[in-house]
Amino acid sequence: MYNTLLAFILMLFVGQLFAQDQKPEDTEVWDPEVTKVQAGKTVRDAPADATVLFDGTSTDAFVSLDGSPVKWKVIDGAMEVVAGTGDIVTKETFGSCQLHLEFMTSDNGKEGQANGNSGVFLQGLYEVQILNSNVSRTYNNGQAGAVYKQYAPLVNVTKPAYEWQTYDIIFTAPTWNENGSRKSPGYLTVFHNGVLIQNHIELQGTTEYIGPPRNVAHGDGPIKLQDHSDPNRFRNIWIRRL
Ligand code: MG
Repeated sequence: MYNTLLAFILMLFVGQLFAQDQKPEDTEVWDPEVTKVQAGKTVRDAPADATVLFDGTSTDAFVSLDGSPVKWKVIDGAMEVVAGTGDIVTKETFGSCQLHLEFMTSDNGKEGQANGNSGVFLQGLYEVQILNSNVSRTYNNGQAGAVYKQYAPLVNVTKPAYEWQTYDIIFTAPTWNENGSRKSPGYLTVFHNGVLIQNHIELQGTTEYIGPPRNVAHGDGPIKLQDHSDPNRFRNIWIRRL
């Protein structure tokens, strides 16, 4: 430990020797000026450059998978999954993005994947799991905050059912070559209730229920929310293109 500190002080000293003939302004960058954006009142609120996907009143930004209007119900400023009506997707498609969403899980007393299950899919293909992992165990790479069947969350910060929780997700979309092969992988960083649970993980491909991840070239895709038969709720969903 002490040796590490000595090495650090030596490094600072050597750095100063090399910087002797240089001026601070040599390394300043002024142009272009960084765009000003009005932040939200709190970190939960959408900044001025965000697209609001659900503000507590209208599901208009979404459609059912078959293109028909959303059949989930709007109740108490939230969207609630109605079992059997299917997943919903945004009408708009997105690439790399910052996504904020709030959710609460239900609790039917069952175990694992059968309790409070839903999910948010980036580009409709890459799932960050939503589950009532406060009370029941399941496979690590399938619990709340997991990148489904690829990465367990770093920690489990799931709140009890019927309490509001937040996901703040930073998604870097994968890119593709002309011949359809993958040029660069996708990446995900996820904060769950403000705690870092996925730290720039490299997506192996699509998040499949059965079988290995797949890598098939695609363009922008919708944000998808899953109907897994549990009456989970969502509110305050906004997104920024990156
Ligand atoms: Mg799910």
